[in-house]
Amino acid sequence: MSSDLWNPSIESMPIKELKVLQLKKLKTMIKYVSKNNKYYNQKLKEAKVNLADIKSLRDIEKLPFLTKQDLRAYYPFGLVCTQLDDVVEVHASSGTTGKPVVGPYTRNDVEIWGEVMARSLWANGIRQNDILQNSYGYGLFTGAHGFEKGAQKIGAMVITISSGNTKRQINVMKDFGSTALACTPSYSMHMGEVAEEMGFDLHKDFNLKIGCFGAEAWSEEMRSSIERRWNIVAHEHYGLTEIIGPGVVSECKYKKLHVNADHFYPEIIDPQTGESLNPGEEGELVFTTLTKEAFPAIRFRTRDLSSLSEEPCDCGRTFPIQSRIKGRSDDMMKVKGVIVFPSQIEAALMKVDGISDIYQIVKTKRGDITSLSVEFEPTEERYKYGHLDDLEKKAEDEIYSVLNLHVPVNFLPPKTIPRSTGKAKRVIER
Ligand SMILES: [Zn+2]
Repeated sequence: MSSDLWNPSIESMPIKELKVLQLKKLKTMIKYVSKNNKYYNQKLKEAKVNLADIKSLRDIEKLPFLTKQDLRAYYPFGLVCTQLDDVVEVHASSGTTGKPVVGPYTRNDVEIWGEVMARSLWANGIRQNDILQNSYGYGLFTGAHGFEKGAQKIGAMVITISSGNTKRQINVMKDFGSTALACTPSYSMHMGEVAEEMGFDLHKDFNLKIGCFGAEAWSEEMRSSIERRWNIVAHEHYGLTEIIGPGVVSECKYKKLHVNADHFYPEIIDPQTGESLNPGEEGELVFTTLTKEAFPAIRFRTRDLSSLSEEPCDCGRTFPIQSRIKGRSDDMMKVKGVIVFPSQIEAALMKVDGISDIYQIVKTKRGDITSLSVEFEPTEERYKYGHLDDLEKKAEDEIYSVLNLHVPVNFLPPKTIPRSTGKAKRVIER
């Protein structure tokens, strides 16, 4: 069993011991941020929290939240808790919805990042003899760098190809014998499409066996579709710039997302009231970093919807299990009073034979009224066969059975919807 765990003494520690460790680290962290950062010091004073009030992990609820707005207000380095001299690496989010989130790391933070990424990749089955094609975009974004650090810690070979130039990706995958691929799930599908156009057989011509996918909400149905297409095992990765980047969780062979809870303490709260929810209940994920030096986060509200469980897992890890992200609360749409997540529409579409993985959700706003429609590309064979109104009808029925909402679905000829080499844009506004 131990060979399945990168760091067995930590990842399978008895849950009671884990909680003792978390509480100790939490107290140290509270002391640390209030001593080293003006913002945190003031915020804790306003909330009238003393260290003596933190007697159990549940007492974390007394601490104020950290929000995206806070991060913006203190952009770029206002929340740093060390001297800037101690920072050795900086990343940032794309900032598509405002100012980017800046993630500074000390040498020790970089070390922890490598450790948690090594755990995640090891849990996916990556070993020293693996060749990881790292097709996340290298740049300010944390993705590619996290995967590189973790894979190198394991001793695997990293191909630092970055994203884009898809034909070259395919040639490199073939020539270098890549055994694992790291990128967004949608980009892996696009790569498959291009490889087939180049005349390759995805099941016979490559050595690929593991996919390490993340940075996008994707459904279980999309996962199965990618696994079938490439004949690989596809694993989910989850992370945020605010917490460390990828590496917050490790997905084991049973496809359970174990939170690396000796470094990141997870909570689920009611997004409306901010109250803590019980295990199994769905709500907003909140993380507290327990060990980060440069940019610790105390109760950061992720806006991601999930649930947590402490059920034992056959893989031997005792770390709590986070359910797959249903979507960001920002992605949630309300249509005729019905709550809709893009991932639910994706799951419905993927159930229909003859629909490819390329689709987009079109949001139209007239005054206060939002309406939705869906456009998809049929597979090449299905397109040639014709009678595409049958396919549209089937997709509408599947969506209706999930959402109880009539959403018009229309096909577009193959290769008309724009492809993405990074995060796919699934919802467009017209
Ligand atoms: Zn497990």
